[in-house]
Amino acid sequence: MFEKILIANRGEIALRVIRAAREMGIRSVAVHSTADSDAMHVRMADESVCIGPNPSAHSYLNVPAIISACEITGAQAIHPGYGFLSENANFVQALEDHGITFIGPSAAHIRIMGDKITAKDTMKKLGVPCVPGSDGGIADVAQARKVARDIGYPVIIKATAGGGGRGMKVAQGEDDLEIAFRTARAESKAAFGNDECYMEKYLQNPRHIEVQVFGDGKGGAVHLGERDCSLQRRHQKVFEEAPGPAIDAATRARIGKTCADAVAAIGYAGAGTIEFLYEEGAFYFIEMNTRLQVEHPVTEAIFGVDLVREQIRVAEGLPMSFAQDELAVNGHAIEVRINAEKLPTFSPCPGKITQYHAPGGLGVRIDSALYDGYSIPPYYDSLIGKLIVHGRDRPEALARLKRALSELIVDGVDTTIPLFHGLLEEEDILTGNYSIHWLEKWLARTFGQ
Ligand code: ADP
Repeated sequence: MFEKILIANRGEIALRVIRAAREMGIRSVAVHSTADSDAMHVRMADESVCIGPNPSAHSYLNVPAIISACEITGAQAIHPGYGFLSENANFVQALEDHGITFIGPSAAHIRIMGDKITAKDTMKKLGVPCVPGSDGGIADVAQARKVARDIGYPVIIKATAGGGGRGMKVAQGEDDLEIAFRTARAESKAAFGNDECYMEKYLQNPRHIEVQVFGDGKGGAVHLGERDCSLQRRHQKVFEEAPGPAIDAATRARIGKTCADAVAAIGYAGAGTIEFLYEEGAFYFIEMNTRLQVEHPVTEAIFGVDLVREQIRVAEGLPMSFAQDELAVNGHAIEVRINAEKLPTFSPCPGKITQYHAPGGLGVRIDSALYDGYSIPPYYDSLIGKLIVHGRDRPEALARLKRALSELIVDGVDTTIPLFHGLLEEEDILTGNYSIHWLEKWLARTFGQ
């Protein structure tokens, strides 16, 4: 059993992991940049170590400093949270070399899923349905034209090293193809240092449905249903719910089993998310994330499990604490992402929080590292909190979300809270009738963007 773990992250997710560790009787070590010395994760952990200056490249991504912090404090394992080093196979390899346990999957599995072409190929062989597209990378414009003609326009060119919605370009027809291909390549070279791109059929009106899987690393795996994360701006999720309004129990069981069987077959360890686009009753795999997701709390709410606790257990070599037939959907949960951003441009809005009040009451969860007087530094992600509500059914969850939002006070900086007040007035949101394009169309209508 671990006595002490280090959390290689900051903000709400670092707190999330510290909480799970404390309930398990495990001591926690926070790491932080100089800008974060007063951060909540530092205050809440049992110990803390400063690992470098403000830019992430010198602190939260500084592998030698993080390994030294482990050695100095005697932490036996590292939880990476999401973002930063969570999907970095070289980091996992370095930990292995130092005898430190990574709370997550193997370096090999991270590598497979981190390269989207290899990931798609692997999933296809495991019987997971994929979006029609190129077999592997596209070498040049001539090949791009040929593949596009075969699969039919519109098409989307995507970076094989992609993430965060970057390096993706749509071509509606042959006229746009060359520019889309060249732009996607240039963007992916700039963002990921790798310009390899592949092509997929561009689905016109899909929902983003993702399946939560969990493997024991020994050939056993379960699924914990799906989340609908279709409400996105620039391919970034802002509102997530579980179960998906468009998915019934039989569909959930079917796609869930396909996903659980796939990760079981490769001996996957820990939490993972298999992302799909879902259109006219068909699922199309787009990528697998080999880590805990920002939106994991909606799954925790409806299944009544602690996913971080399970991650720690599996990393310790213990079995998962639940079997598939013990997992049943209970009610409905919704998460909204509170970002320090100014509407309608969503430009980051760091600064000092002059007043903070978190909502409470039945079925309300806040995951946030905010406190009165906290200064949000300008160096990191603008996510400052997540509000998660749980109700017996979707209408109850929506009513609870509206009520909780009305109690939430974050003064001193602009936030995305008004966006959610606006969304909850919309018939389509109340009925669950939305696709991945809904939010951008609504923003354009509402703010004339
Ligand atoms: P990233 O890793 O950058 O997040 P994904 O492959 O997960 O990239 O895609 C992110 C989002 O981009 C999806 O949720 C969807 O909104 C859009 N997208 C990706 N592939 C397609 C496609 N083939 N057709 C339509 N939209 C797509």
